Amino acid sequence: MKNLHIIDLHFLETEEAIASFLIKTTAGPILIETGPESTFLQLKSSLNKLGYQISDIKHVFLTHIHFDHAGAAWKFAEAGAKIYVHPIGLPHLASPEKLWNSAAQIYGDDMERLWGSMSPIATENLIGVEENEIFKIGELHIQALHTPGHAVHHIAWKIEESIFTGDVAGVMINDGPVVPPCPPPDIHLEDWRKSIALLKSLNPKSLYLTHFGLVTDPQIHLIALENILDDWATWMKPYFEASVDQNSIVPEFMEYTKNQLISQNVDESTIQVYEYANPSWMSVAGLMRYWKLKSQGRI
Ligand SMILES: [Zn+2]
Repeated sequence: MKNLHIIDLHFLETEEAIASFLIKTTAGPILIETGPESTFLQLKSSLNKLGYQISDIKHVFLTHIHFDHAGAAWKFAEAGAKIYVHPIGLPHLASPEKLWNSAAQIYGDDMERLWGSMSPIATENLIGVEENEIFKIGELHIQALHTPGHAVHHIAWKIEESIFTGDVAGVMINDGPVVPPCPPPDIHLEDWRKSIALLKSLNPKSLYLTHFGLVTDPQIHLIALENILDDWATWMKPYFEASVDQNSIVPEFMEYTKNQLISQNVDESTIQVYEYANPSWMSVAGLMRYWKLKSQGRI
């Protein structure tokens, strides 16, 4: 895409784990995704190198509110930017305590190292975005596609013939295979398949993944994603049915997914980045929760 800069946030000192996207328009620059607050200085210095101050960014489009995508949005709001987000995600950015505290239960003392910090965003800076809503900024038409499955509050942003897919089109590091990030609590296979079908039906020329970068063959990529999503969910199901303790599954699942990557010639250091971008324990927790809710008829 013209005038696009893919900014590598060097999350945990690694390359190609988390991206932020800057697009220059005739009405000034826009940002898609901010990454976590822990990489804010990296983002700031990248923006400076492109000739921008933080306060030059007036529009920030978020795919969803997970920290690795939206954790630094408040910094831009403080400098005056409008933050575009799914209506279900909006209250969590206005009052992030609940989001933060529930994550702290999982990450404990590691919260700050991983995610930095989070402050509330004033409601006048937050824009709840409806399905298919289009924003015109400069010459760009930026269209919101509500795309649940990974998160109930997920938006993929369509701009011209490209789609910025957040996590709904999976994670693909260093041109390796695509994998589905499956964190709790929202994983919903049926919704995710519908979202993938929507992306396919729009026949985009390219996808831009937050983890990480350009996909030039969207149809092949999305079919591969459907397959691996089914594969992981199917692998997990018998463990749920046998009431196996979640923690004890993690090493086995890690081994399973690592072998999948090795069989596709992914090297050790790239496997590590896959694990940073999409931790195995998270996918175990997310898929186990999906099967549990499904068995209870709650989804
Ligand atoms: Zn996510």
